[in-house]
Amino acid sequence: MKKVGIVAGNWKMFKTPIEGRDFVQDFINLMLNIEDVEVIFCPPFPALFNIDVVLKDTTLKLGAQNCHWEKEGAYTGEVSVSMLGSCGADYVILGHSERRHIFKETNDWINKKLKAVLDGGLKPILCIGETLDQRKSNETKDVLYHQLKEGLKGVEKLDNVVIAYEPVWAIGTGETASNEQVGEAHKWVRNILSNFYSQDIANDTPILYGGSVKPENAGELFEIEDVNGFLIGGASLKINPFKEIILTVNEKLKG
Ligand code: PEP
Repeated sequence: MKKVGIVAGNWKMFKTPIEGRDFVQDFINLMLNIEDVEVIFCPPFPALFNIDVVLKDTTLKLGAQNCHWEKEGAYTGEVSVSMLGSCGADYVILGHSERRHIFKETNDWINKKLKAVLDGGLKPILCIGETLDQRKSNETKDVLYHQLKEGLKGVEKLDNVVIAYEPVWAIGTGETASNEQVGEAHKWVRNILSNFYSQDIANDTPILYGGSVKPENAGELFEIEDVNGFLIGGASLKINPFKEIILTVNEKLKG
C-alpha cells in the first residue's frame, strides 16, 4: 500500500473572501517544495471563487464544507455541487461533526450528498467519528461501522472518496486522540471498507485523521500505518502551523 499524504484545512465559518484570498496568496508566495502532499483549502462558500483565482497554475486544491444533493431548486440557503464545481471546488467535506451535531444532519442526508458529489465529478471527504459518551461506552467501532455503511450506501466505487476519522471529543478541544486510539480506529475503518468492498479498494482509500492536529503532533500521527493525512480546523487558520504540518507530512513521505 503506497502511503499518500493529504492535508485539508477546514476554515469553518472564518475568513472573508478577501482575507481568504490573501491568506492563500501568502501561502503560495512561500514557494514551498511540497509536491508530494495534496493540500486542500476549504473556506466558507463566499470565498471559494476568489481563492480559485489565485490557485490557478498551482497544485493546491479547493474544497467546500457542505452541499445540497439536488442539482437546483427551491432550497433556500443551500448550494449545489455544480455551483461548487463552477467556483473551482475539487472536494466537498461531508458529515462533519458540527453538521451532524449542531445541524442534525443524518446519515441518509450525508449519503445523498455524497452520491451527488460523486455524480458531479467532485471528491467527497466523508467525516465519521464517535462522541465521548460513545467512546466511553465502547461503541466506537459500531458508530464507525454504521456511519460508513449508511454514508456509503449504494456507492459502488471508492475511487474519489476520502474518509476522515474525527473523534468528536478531539475536535477543537486541544485534546488529540492517542496514537494508539488513532491507529486502532484507522485500522477498523480500513477493515470495514475491505469488508464492504475489497482489501485493494480499502488500501487505496485515503483515511485522514482530524482532531486538534498541530505541528507538535503531526509527525508522530502521520507515522501511524493507516493515517494518510489530516483534516485540520484551528491550525489551518494561520499560515505557520498549517505550513509546518504540511512540511512534516512531505518530509515523512520522502522517508
Ligand atoms: C475539524 O474541524 O475538522 C477539526 C479537526 O478541527 P480542529 O483541528 O480544530 O480540532
